[in-house]
Amino acid sequence: MPQEQTMEPARGDEMIRPSGLQAVFPDKARCPEIASPFGSETRYDGSRRPSWEFGGYHGGIDISLAEGTPLLALAAGTVATKDEGGQLEGNYLWLRHSPDDTGLPYWVYSKYQHLLSLPELSIGVRVVAGQVVARSGKTGTTGGHFRAYGYPHLHLTTRKSPNGDLIVGARGSTGGANLFDPLVIYHEAGAKPQESAVTIPYATIDGRIWPQGTRVVWPVACQPK
Ligand SMILES: [Zn+2]
Repeated sequence: MPQEQTMEPARGDEMIRPSGLQAVFPDKARCPEIASPFGSETRYDGSRRPSWEFGGYHGGIDISLAEGTPLLALAAGTVATKDEGGQLEGNYLWLRHSPDDTGLPYWVYSKYQHLLSLPELSIGVRVVAGQVVARSGKTGTTGGHFRAYGYPHLHLTTRKSPNGDLIVGARGSTGGANLFDPLVIYHEAGAKPQESAVTIPYATIDGRIWPQGTRVVWPVACQPK
């Protein structure tokens, strides 16, 4: 089947439902946690999401963060795209992760939104898991629901595809990459795939990784207690 080359349909046409997975953070570390999970019908502040955006379901995870917090590559990969999005999107970065990078049987495309500024990383450059790739911000969040102040946070979206050559950009990608809960990555890469509780692997800001040998890490550094 030839690959579809049109931009994906407008937001709202994609099926999004909660995955049922629950993030469990390790006892020995303090990690910035999820403020609004994938598939949630509410924002971090409890307000209802509008139905015109993915049918009212959250298309990623939100992690509330002070502006300027370092954001980490959730796995090794390649810088696919970076750009200044508008309202709701903000400055964003897409990384492309091969099956070799993650150990998963599909390609993962990860998108970091609302960045403080455009990352300096060049398109095509390789990154390693846990590497600082951007700084969190609140671009694209001001003026709407969050008023003049905005909402400083990371919105992380992930898409999966059998194809490693998709072009990713504003809003989404060219055909065939489905939105999915980023927790699925940690779940499928982890040791307990039969459980809905997902123990989150992480990196520290000085580059240590837990558990040893993990190829995927939380997109924000955790602090050992
Ligand atoms: Zn979000």
